[in-house]
Formats: sequence, C-alpha cells, structure tokens
Amino acid sequence: MEFTESQLANIVGEVMAKLNLSGGTSGMHGVFADMNTAIEKAKEAQKIIRVMSMDQREKIIAKIRVKIKENAEDFARMGVEETGMGNVGDKILKHLLVAEKTPGTEDITTVAWSGDRGLTLVEMGPFGVIGAITPCTNPSETVLCNTMGMLAGGNTVVFNPHPQAIRTSIYAVNLLNEASLEAGGPDNICCTVEKPTLETSAVMMKHPDIPLLVATGGPGVVTAVLSSGKRGIGAGAGNPPALVDETADIRKAAEDIVNGCTFDNNLPCIAEKEIVAVDSICDELMHYMTEEQGCYLASPEIQDRLVHTVMDEKGRLNRNCVGRSAKTLLAMVGVDVPDSIRCITFEGSKEHPLIAEELMMPILGVVRAKNFEEAVETAVWLEHGNRHSAHIHSKNVDRITAYARAVDTAILVKNGPSYAALGFGGEGFPTFTIASRTGEGLTSAATFTKRRRCTMSDSLCIR
Ligand code: NAD
Repeated sequence: MEFTESQLANIVGEVMAKLNLSGGTSGMHGVFADMNTAIEKAKEAQKIIRVMSMDQREKIIAKIRVKIKENAEDFARMGVEETGMGNVGDKILKHLLVAEKTPGTEDITTVAWSGDRGLTLVEMGPFGVIGAITPCTNPSETVLCNTMGMLAGGNTVVFNPHPQAIRTSIYAVNLLNEASLEAGGPDNICCTVEKPTLETSAVMMKHPDIPLLVATGGPGVVTAVLSSGKRGIGAGAGNPPALVDETADIRKAAEDIVNGCTFDNNLPCIAEKEIVAVDSICDELMHYMTEEQGCYLASPEIQDRLVHTVMDEKGRLNRNCVGRSAKTLLAMVGVDVPDSIRCITFEGSKEHPLIAEELMMPILGVVRAKNFEEAVETAVWLEHGNRHSAHIHSKNVDRITAYARAVDTAILVKNGPSYAALGFGGEGFPTFTIASRTGEGLTSAATFTKRRRCTMSDSLCIR
C-alpha cells in the first residue's frame, strides 16, 4: 500500500486532532511532564492490578486486543509519518499480529511438587513497576506488546520511548489506558513522559520503585541498562545472516529471503541482513533474486555511492536511510527504478560495509563461500557475537544442527522467511523484544515475572 506525502499528512493531522496532540499532550492517559510522577502513577495502578483476579487482568488484555485491531491502520500511518521508517501495509500486519497472538495470562503457570512432606509451588509473581526503553524502529508495536505481557504478569510499566517516535508511543500509551478503564481496570497501567531524554531515562534507571529494566534497542541502551545495578533484560542489535547451501530449494530460498528482508523495509531486528551462499548455487540464487524477486543488482559504482549515502566515514548510519524502501534508497544515489524493485543486491566480501554493518535497509549483499563449512564460519563472523538471529536454507538436518550450534542465536529460522519466528507464517507467539544479550529470548508475560516458592509443610498432599 503506497500513499502520497500529502495523503499521509492529512491522515496524521486527523488522528492528531482526534487526540488533541497538536497542542501538547494534555488529556492523554498515562502521559506526564516528569518521570518521577509517571513512576508514582504507575505504582498506584500496580497496587490495584496486584489484587485483581487473573480473570480481570485477562478482560483488560482482551479489550486491548480489540482496540489495537481497530487502530492498526492509524498506528501504522502515524509510525511511518513520524519516524519516516517502514511502510504502512506491513506495519498494519505487525499490529494485527500483536493484537492476535501476544500471550496473555495463560503464559503465567505454576510448577508443583507434592509428597510425604507436603506441597510446594513455584509461582510467577509480578516485579511491580517495570521500566522499559523502546526503539523507533517498531515504536507502538513494542509499547503495546510489552504492556500486554507485563500486565498479564501483574506489573505496570513506565516507558522512556525513542524521542523520534514519541507521538506514536504516546498514542499507544493512551489507548492501553483507555482499554483498561473500559474494561473496569485502573488508569496508568502504562505511563510515559511528554519529552523522553537521556535524563528521564537516568531517573528511571535509578528510581527505587523500579526493580526491573527492559531495554529494546542498540548496544548503547542495552549496556546502559545492564550497568544500572538492577536486574535488566537486554534486547539488543543483530545482523542476521541467511545461509543457503546446495541442498536447498534455491528458488524458494530466494523468495523467502527477499520476503523476510523487505518486510517493513527491513526494520525488524530479526530480518535477513545479508546472505552467505555456497559457491555451487550462488549464481542460481542471485538469478532468482534479480529475475523473480524484484532485486536490483548494484554495480560497484552504485555500491560505493550507497556506502557514502547510508553511513558516514565512521560507519554511523544515516537515520534518513534506515527503514526506507529500495526505490527511495536508489533515488538517493541517482538511480530511478520501477516500483517492482523491492531490494538491492550485489556480491561482495564479508567485510564490505553494506554487508558487515546492521543497516535496517532492504540491501542484501551476498557473500560467496567455497563450501558449507566456510559458509558457517562466515555467517558466524557476520553475526558479530550478538547471539540474536540467523537463518538457513538447507535440506540437510546434520548441517542445520551444526549451523545452529555454531551461531548460537536466540532465533534460527530454517527454510522460511525470518518473520516466521514471530508466529507470522510460523508457529509460536510474537514479540518485539527479543532478549538476545541476556538470554531470555523471545519475551512474553512469563519473562516479566519473578519465581516465588510457596511451601506447605507436611499437609495438603492428598496422594
Ligand atoms: P537506539 O539504540 O538508537 O534507541 C533505542 C532506545 O534506547 C531509544 O529509546 C533511545 O532513546 C534509547 N537509548 C539509546 N542510547 C541510550 C543510552 N545510552 N541510555 C539510555 N537510553 C538510550 O535504537 P533504534 O534505532 O531505536 O532501534 C534500532 C536498534 O535496536 C537496532 O540495533 C535493532 O537491532 C535493535 N532492536 C532490537 C530489538 C530486539 O528485540 N532485540 C528489537 C528492536 C530493535
């Protein structure tokens, strides 16, 4: 779905007017001028959530699902308009996925042992008020999905969103609180500040009422949270390689990889960022990519121009290129292509800057490896030890196993597009917080709880 700039501006204007956002954030549920107040309000709300039945929590979550579905298109348009990143059609799908498949209270389970000496339970209890920092790449998706999981676990949450996505994040915070109120819950189940900064983030990280921090973003924020002295869940950067060997269905591999790479203009951290192909099928793979999957084959000169456009001399990304379409990126380097072009490809070494760096753009460099073993070594190097995501197209289970062990990532998709790992065309639940650095993997309600042991001595066993 494509919109002109003026169409988008009109739609966003309408939504902003509806929200009274143009004149500030007054009247928005859960939005406060300073971080200390936001935390205090979330603490008051948590006291109410804490004593609610699981059934009541689930009613709020059900209402949230309905409202996300009703507002999926507004969220998508607003996110694209505010950040300039991604595309409306895919962002609608991401919101529907969050609404339909994010786990609720069913994720909260109990382990029990009973025997001659009584009964012991291990239950999942809330932390209290969680502090969460969210990215501009999936702004509302992360705020919505995090809140649903945290609430299911009995928590409330305070967000310090990316400043570039604050309007979209505030829209999500307001909607979540409206859903809670409509379902008979408290206001302020999630809170934020009007103007998030590094200072408001520091207040949150040091605040005595925040026992758990959740960081979704690049290496800087994850390191900051893990250095805070508090428990931290770190969902950091990736650079997922897609390995293709000679046993794969090469035509399908080309289709899956380009579909995964171009979804929301490559914004998801799990999306294919480069390909490593064994020599014997490399030309065939690139043939299908360029002839059937809308890939533009970039010459060395165009690659050079792209390097100088998408990053500076120190390798820092140009934010105006992140999440842009292949057509837009090519226009920036003076190449006009038809709308059918959805990805840029070329063959290069693993050290090529458009291959080695996590770009979050639909640019898929291909590294040729002489055999499977070399391909694994190259893919592991390209993943840079993030332990985040990697993908493989192969029919040989021994090789898939060897690759999985070597790359050691939170996510590994076999013979499908990367988004299958989020339950989109694959089994399982979605999340936009994949705790790669700290090892929780795909986060859900259970991740946001602490284990509490409750023991009854010498009674309650009726075996
Ligand atoms: P970013 O790191 O620039 O910002 C993320 C958030 O952290 C923002 O709210 C930002 O304001 C804040 N932040 C940055 N540095 C900070 C610091 N030192 N202290 C406190 N807060 C700080 O990332 P982005 O551009 O918004 O998102 C893209 C990055 O996030 C990519 O690297 C991507 O792989 C990663 N990401 C990871 C996941 C995951 O689940 N693992 C999900 C989405 C994005």
